[in-house]
Amino acid sequence: MINVQHLAFLHRLANIMALSVMLVGGIVLFGWGNHLPALYRVNDNLPMMTPVAAFSFIFTGAALFLVQPAKLSALRRLAAQVLAFGGIALGILMLLSYWHPLPDQWLGRGLVSLQVFNLSPEKDSLQTAVAFILTCTGLFLLSLQRPILISVAQWSAFISLMLLVTVFFGFAHQEDMFAVFTHERGMALPTATAFALVGWGIILAKVENGFFSIMAHDASSGLVVRWVMFLMAWFPPLLGWLPVLLVSDWLTHTRVESLLASVMVVAIVLTIIHLAYRLEREERLRTQAQEEAEQHQTELSRMVNLNTMGEMASGIAHELNQPLAAVANYASACQRLLSAGEDAQRLSEPLRAIQQQALRASEIIRRLRTLVRKQPPHKTHACLEQVIHEALHLTKSSSRKLNVPLLLELDDAVPDIAIDTIQIQQVILNIVQNAIDAMQAIPIQRRQVLVRSFVPAEGWVQVAISDTGPGIAEELKARVFEAFVTTKGKHGMGIGLSLCRSIIEAHGGRLWVESEPGQGATFAFTLPV
Ligand code: ADP
Repeated sequence: MINVQHLAFLHRLANIMALSVMLVGGIVLFGWGNHLPALYRVNDNLPMMTPVAAFSFIFTGAALFLVQPAKLSALRRLAAQVLAFGGIALGILMLLSYWHPLPDQWLGRGLVSLQVFNLSPEKDSLQTAVAFILTCTGLFLLSLQRPILISVAQWSAFISLMLLVTVFFGFAHQEDMFAVFTHERGMALPTATAFALVGWGIILAKVENGFFSIMAHDASSGLVVRWVMFLMAWFPPLLGWLPVLLVSDWLTHTRVESLLASVMVVAIVLTIIHLAYRLEREERLRTQAQEEAEQHQTELSRMVNLNTMGEMASGIAHELNQPLAAVANYASACQRLLSAGEDAQRLSEPLRAIQQQALRASEIIRRLRTLVRKQPPHKTHACLEQVIHEALHLTKSSSRKLNVPLLLELDDAVPDIAIDTIQIQQVILNIVQNAIDAMQAIPIQRRQVLVRSFVPAEGWVQVAISDTGPGIAEELKARVFEAFVTTKGKHGMGIGLSLCRSIIEAHGGRLWVESEPGQGATFAFTLPV
């Protein structure tokens, strides 16, 4: 299951990547403006990043930043698309300039007409041009927010990252790998770094989508993949930068290289040992949580049983059947005695038996009434966030089975409240389970359940559970909270929501549903603080 904290962390990383790309662009421009070649080519004999490329990175970073939120406003999306298109166009111009001399204004001097940039005739590498086209296409695909296109963007970013490893290794070996094959100069070191940042940003911006979502999982698998990706993100750039920065009179290139190789081996071994420890701890915590959950489930199911009116009804029928049948038997015996002309004395015994059985029936009814009498909620002070987490824990296996990602957006501002935790968990469990059930009707890529908690107005907290299922038809919407309304045939009882509503109302809150057919449903309830 996707863990919200991990997901938020990865999204934050994507944001940092976007800002860092802009920063790299800014630093290189600063270098050009102040004649500091170290900032745009690092070493005299290395390829450089041109001001045009630096400008493009600022746009690319901005586009990456703009596409991040889960729900994009039309304006934001448009801005991101314009920037991405700009990047693609620049890449194409850079590419064309290799075969056709383009007017200076097109590539550089016009765009960067401020005289500060004393442009050299050198161009960005072919490789950089192609990388711009691919990266900005990836950003454009992200902005369309279609799961399949997001996957395409993520995979192409991943492949570019793999290709960048070659570039960084090239710097480590003092061999321009691109030039080896094409005789054209390859990518500059700052350029490769900026592309690596954008690549990771593209993967992380919508990581909850598709293959890479495993990075946000809370299981041990998520932990392992996060660490492996972390290593993969750091090592290639370090391999590129350190030899270039460290080589001096004493530290020859060979020495730096062997030093880096040893550091790499040590780091990998330490990471694996660290992982092993973390996994062991996770496993211990998981067993513990599982035991707690099982205990909880028993408690919940006992309550569900008690509250299930269907079971009550059959229980009542069963219990009452015996005395009523006995009453009927004794009554017919009386009739037989009367018609046989027996004297009244003989009737006293069956009549007493009838009285006893009738009293027994009324005792059964009295007992049942005390059992089903609405108990006031047993309230304790509780953290709503924890209550939600525990309830969702119980839906884990069915959400996993149906491939429904559960997302959480829990506002820290929600205060602790006095509630009957078991009852409120039952409400959340029921609504989430309904949402998961509703997902069966739609394709796997579109399935998603979002649980939000927030403060809608002072003195209240609200929990809203939205799904991307088929929604609820208008005529059913008014009736879903009535008892015995179900569309699940023999798999449903139609009791869940009516029970949820009485629990929420007993807490002084309100439960309602909003739904557009075809657009999913949102069940929301409020509770007083
Ligand atoms: P049950 O789940 O046993 O049918 P409920 O009272 O929990 O009983 O739900 C009543 C009905 O409301 C369901 O049968 C279903 O038709 C509808 N319903 C509930 N939640 C959703 C949802 N998230 N999306 C679509 N329909 C829903």
